[in-house]
Amino acid sequence: MDGFNTRAIHAGQAPDPETGAVVTPIYQVSTYAQDGVGGLRNGYEYSRSGNPTRTALQECLAALEAPGIESARGLAFASGLAAEDTLIRTVLKPGDHVVLPNDAYGGTYRLFKKVAEPWGIDLTTAAVTDPDAIAAAMTPKTKLVWIETPTNPLLNIGDIAAIAEVAHAGGALLVIDNTFASSYLQQPLLLGADVVIHSTTKYLGGHSDVVGGALVVADAELGEQLAYHQNAMGAIAGPFDSWLVMRGIKTLGVRMDRHNDNAAKVVELLEGHAGVGQVFYPGLPSHPNHEVAKKQMSGFGGMVSFRVKAGEQAALDICSATTLFTLGESLGGVESLIEHPGRMTHASVSGSPLEVPNDLVRLSVGIEEADDLIADLEKALH
Ligand SMILES: *Cc1c(COP(=O)(O)O)cnc(C)c1O
Repeated sequence: MDGFNTRAIHAGQAPDPETGAVVTPIYQVSTYAQDGVGGLRNGYEYSRSGNPTRTALQECLAALEAPGIESARGLAFASGLAAEDTLIRTVLKPGDHVVLPNDAYGGTYRLFKKVAEPWGIDLTTAAVTDPDAIAAAMTPKTKLVWIETPTNPLLNIGDIAAIAEVAHAGGALLVIDNTFASSYLQQPLLLGADVVIHSTTKYLGGHSDVVGGALVVADAELGEQLAYHQNAMGAIAGPFDSWLVMRGIKTLGVRMDRHNDNAAKVVELLEGHAGVGQVFYPGLPSHPNHEVAKKQMSGFGGMVSFRVKAGEQAALDICSATTLFTLGESLGGVESLIEHPGRMTHASVSGSPLEVPNDLVRLSVGIEEADDLIADLEKALH
């Protein structure tokens, strides 16, 4: 089997048979000529149902998350939330129960609370760090156990293999949102998870120039059902967006190595700073789930959160005082970002079990020169 970086560059992306183009073209097309009624060329009929640029991305995604698993299937969507919605409406029906993480991307919680719950789905939140708590939260109607690891924004780690056992013992599927780790640092399907979700907007795209989502599964039948719903519901990734994500994926490995290195240096600065309280990073030996992170990740990623001792106003001031770290939502791009989760990405979970501390600052550490990032943060903390 080819290594990760080779698959990232070549899987699903053989040179174009027509011209030899080494990059998969953007098939900016809605419909395809048929050779007689029903005479489809390579199965292409209409671009909601299938598009060669999207096909290339989907094959690449499957090769990254489930190397060597023949039955694996990747599906690309218009956004991470479009992928989540398609999953929810494929595997759940009203009356079913879902266990959700108590620390998660705010938009995922909002989708469940404001869209899935009114549709008839019951929800319970549990700590991703505690497989026993997840087991206790399950009911005979639980169809999905859904976790993020690392979580957004508190960088908690769930033990994927242990939670897969708990979920399967109760007859549920395990869904892992792998956005924070990326396919390079963690492959949940190989650890027993059933479905991997990505917001490809983040590390997979990597350049803050596209919004997209993905689902990857190992089971052929589940893959068929999801592909059916992808077409029936229609939340597909368009050809140009698919191409941008594929272009990003080619450098995922080298970017993540650099994100890891830069984040480690930023963490060192924060740990030694008198104004900084708790630092949240799974690479820290003092992180409560460090051993689990070491076991299931090949690096600790570029996301770092920290609490500011002087409180919320000081945290807000720091967010406005950096120049290289751009104040903004989202994450996973080559450029560094800073944000205040309580007022920004996680404003929608205020008052819920997912509420975050108001003195929390979240960094998406980019791949600029580490010294410049450190100098920018030092100045802002001062
Ligand atoms: C951004 C994000 C999502 C949602 O993805 P969109 O592409 O914004 O729809 C889901 N999960 C996590 C962890 C995210 O960071």
